[in-house]
Amino acid sequence: MDFDSHLGRLLDAAAGLVNALTPGQDGGHPVAAPAGAERHEAVTGALLDADGRRPRPERAATGRLAELAPRLREVFEATDAGDLDAAAARVNALVDATSPRPQLDRDASGAYRLHFHGPDDSFDRGWAAGIAAGLAVALGSDLAGRLGVCAAPACDRVYVDTSRNGGRRFCSARCQSRVKAAAHRARHRGD
Ligand SMILES: [Zn+2]
Repeated sequence: MDFDSHLGRLLDAAAGLVNALTPGQDGGHPVAAPAGAERHEAVTGALLDADGRRPRPERAATGRLAELAPRLREVFEATDAGDLDAAAARVNALVDATSPRPQLDRDASGAYRLHFHGPDDSFDRGWAAGIAAGLAVALGSDLAGRLGVCAAPACDRVYVDTSRNGGRRFCSARCQSRVKAAAHRARHRGD
């Protein structure tokens, strides 16, 4: 799947924030929502600048961005359940709340690409608006089915399926092999 790199980066950021900041289960292990310095690291670890670097925002900015994560999770859960009405309603609400501003920027090759900026140049508003717009573009295209929740037992981490055939079902290779191994054991037990 040939994602536009800006869109791909926004969707990766959405999935990264959900996985790093929302409580639940990760590959059979319970996970709690991080707080304080851990939360700050979790947010910056989920984001990549256009030049591929981790951003270095202030603590207050990552705190505000962290608050977006549960709302992003709802979008992945709705698309995974095939409930596009619910997903679209949630994305429209995010777009309303974050006011993305489309703008043409030159990419590294010198070509103009459509990017989404925030209502101002602050770190958290820029990322929030960009992510909301990125989810809107995905849901308004044939990428809607590419946002999923891990199908492995005891895991609710999310993913963006960038595979050619769109057949991804798990958050990670670890969950995929966990499910494969369980199926293998079940076959050998004869049930
Ligand atoms: Zn998983």
